[in-house]
Amino acid sequence: MPTWHATVETASWLTPVLVRVVLRGDGLAGFAMPDATDAYVNVAIPPQDAPYGPVFVPAEVREHHPEELWPARRRYTVRRWEPASGRLTLDVVVHGDEGVGGPWAARAEAGDVLVLEGPGGGYRPDPDADWHLLVGDESALPAIAASLEAVPAGRRAVVRLVCDGPDHEVDLPSPADLDVGWLHRSGDPGTDGTLLLHALEELDLPAGRVHAFVHGEADEVRGIRRHLLTDRGIARADMSCSPYWRRTMTDEAWRRVKRDFVAQMDAEVGTGAA
Ligand SMILES: Cc1cc2nc3c(=O)[nH]c(=O)nc-3n(C[C@H](O)[C@H](O)[C@H](O)COP(=O)(O)OP(=O)(O)OC[C@H]3O[C@@H](n4cnc5c(N)ncnc54)[C@H](O)[C@@H]3O)c2cc1C
Repeated sequence: MPTWHATVETASWLTPVLVRVVLRGDGLAGFAMPDATDAYVNVAIPPQDAPYGPVFVPAEVREHHPEELWPARRRYTVRRWEPASGRLTLDVVVHGDEGVGGPWAARAEAGDVLVLEGPGGGYRPDPDADWHLLVGDESALPAIAASLEAVPAGRRAVVRLVCDGPDHEVDLPSPADLDVGWLHRSGDPGTDGTLLLHALEELDLPAGRVHAFVHGEADEVRGIRRHLLTDRGIARADMSCSPYWRRTMTDEAWRRVKRDFVAQMDAEVGTGAA
């Protein structure tokens, strides 16, 4: 994967848990997006006492330094790439003081340097679908927001998002015929994890072929996927489904078990990528 670096131009809070980081700089020269609205980059965040400079090649650091000095890798959606101005926008969830990526974004200020690799990505709203379904939490919000901008004008797009309250909601500009529902967590882990699933279970789905996008917390994604495939009869090929993160696991721990988790999830309802 190609390596890039960029400088923080602005960092601002969109909601109480979402920081918008706009990056820019000569280190993004040649950056090009895949044909996807869920495109992502892997950012590389070095430990505070790193004996190397702010611009580095992650593979070289891994080759020449002990593991405790390696940068942490975190994956973030490219909310927007503006080739003319060279601005790249990431929206990063800050979930308390935990983690590496969230705290980095909370502290980010103009002039900070960020190394990134990529991009990758695989989903774009199918212009031939009769309607669109987009479901997720704050981590999927950047991809859902970018995707809604690409839904054909007037096409039905049903969106269900979970967040902590009304001040966590954001505007979702789109040419689509939007049906947006925000679900608010109560703070009870027993019920919060199934809010999206239960909202979908109660939904009257529009007629015709859907193109669905379900990304976010792993167990929530798994339950929703099972419901849409088995109870609603949505075709696997018509669904993009990705467990972005796993509750109680750091990204390092999640990456160690993610392959098995996805294999088990696939085995629940048929096989092959969905
Ligand atoms: C393709 C892809 C695209 C993604 N795009 C985005 C994006 O645009 N914006 C974004 O914010 N995230 C995005 N994510 C998710 C992000 O990579 C993970 O949430 C990552 O774990 C965050 O790293 P961290 O260092 O903040 O926390 P970690 O060190 O990984 O985790 C520390 C603790 O926080 C918990 N945690 C992690 N993420 C969350 C969360 N979102 N809410 C609540 N608790 C959490 C973990 O379960 C763990 O207990 C994406 C993931 C993928 C695979």
